[in-house]
Amino acid sequence: MEYISTRGTAPTMDFEGVTLAGLANDGGLYLPSEWPRFTEAEIADMAGLPYAQLAAKVMAPFVGDSLSEEELLSLCEQAYGRFAHKAVTPLVQLDEQQWLLELFHGPTLAFKDVALQLLGLFFETFLSRRKSNLTIVGATSGDTGSAAIDAVAGREGVDIFMLHPAGRVSDVQRRQMTTVRAPNVYNIAIEGSFDDAQAMVKRMFGDEELTSRFNIGAVNSINWARLMAQVVYYFAAALQLGAQQRSVAFSVPTGNFGDVFAGYVAAQMGLPIERLIVATNVNDILHRALSDGDYSAGEVTPTVAPSMDIQVSSNFERLLFDCGGRDGAAMAEQMRGFEASKAMRLTNAQREGAAGLFTSTRADGDQLSQTLRWAHDEAGQVLDPHTAIGLHAARECALDADIPVVTLATAHPAKFRDAVERAIGQRPALPARVGDLFAREEAYDSLPGDYDAVRAYVTERATPAD
Ligand SMILES: *Cc1c(COP(=O)(O)O)cnc(C)c1O
Repeated sequence: MEYISTRGTAPTMDFEGVTLAGLANDGGLYLPSEWPRFTEAEIADMAGLPYAQLAAKVMAPFVGDSLSEEELLSLCEQAYGRFAHKAVTPLVQLDEQQWLLELFHGPTLAFKDVALQLLGLFFETFLSRRKSNLTIVGATSGDTGSAAIDAVAGREGVDIFMLHPAGRVSDVQRRQMTTVRAPNVYNIAIEGSFDDAQAMVKRMFGDEELTSRFNIGAVNSINWARLMAQVVYYFAAALQLGAQQRSVAFSVPTGNFGDVFAGYVAAQMGLPIERLIVATNVNDILHRALSDGDYSAGEVTPTVAPSMDIQVSSNFERLLFDCGGRDGAAMAEQMRGFEASKAMRLTNAQREGAAGLFTSTRADGDQLSQTLRWAHDEAGQVLDPHTAIGLHAARECALDADIPVVTLATAHPAKFRDAVERAIGQRPALPARVGDLFAREEAYDSLPGDYDAVRAYVTERATPAD
């Protein structure tokens, strides 16, 4: 399988190459040069497979020659063996039409574990083969940082430097990062907002003095391998609900457009998906883009669903490229315009292409709380705020009664227990597997919001490329 950049000029690469590169060097994002497609019979044959076997089957066409079938299956078994539920991503029924797909049974209680546990193993496998080292730099508003650190802690060939905005992540989120003690993990509390931290990370990718000494890698969802791993649970859910005989809709609490783009990929591969519902909170750039073509970034409004408090959704570029005729030069031009003015219009081809599969909604704080209460009172389920936004969208979107609607439950409610308690008057307990989180000792360094300070910190501690 060959991968191309959405901006048309970066070198094409194989799976191993795109996994280690993260971002393409023309500023674009990597995508497969064409979508692999399963036949109906092949999809029907996947019904009933254990999760790790299903994962290896669904991902094999994307991985190509970078791993043998046995290697891929063995990595999937290792990654998903660490989940606290045997089904890995179990389905729960809420009423006649509504379902929840629980994606939070991994070590750090959010769906990001599903992809990152595997990505950590891909990194280790590819780096030991190449005898080289990778320096991961990332910024986190909470969930990505903890999932990435858990996935690479103690692994050979990888160092991770994770920046979080000081005082702006929840206590559970911070402790999940800072109580991991491994010699290759560096936690940095940085003065300023998440966007400030993110801007420094982006600058490091373009800093030639750094990139000439270190292989800088990415763990956010610009990394193709993450999206690929997320395609699997769309198959798992739809197969359980009767695909290929019947099509299924999904509602996805959306921030950077990674998770819902994985659903789009599943549909390209032949999975019968009726609709993909893009659920946003008041930070609704994606809702505006999909409903009237207006992709313009405003100020971020902080909410109780912080992982969706985003005004620029990196992975949206992948959809626009694919729906807009896969024209890298045109995409580069459109994104240059967006980067200059923070606003752009979708082309007609992009709007029509997206409208075939996507619907979008926006939920405010009251609708979120009402949905948390509905799930609790009517279906006996305690949800996290992100999932509640997804479920609100699922219930709003009037689909035929015979279409099951699956809301992706992206985080465990205990991760956001203050907000949940305010809405339903009940404080969700932390699951036993993270039970001693508050007894463990924290370790992190604090730095000012100054690029040179961060860069010096990384340079002193990272392992050179080879
Ligand atoms: C990251 C995250 C999201 C948003 O996912 P994207 O792939 O960025 O769209 C939603 N909910 C939770 C709990 C998250 O951690």
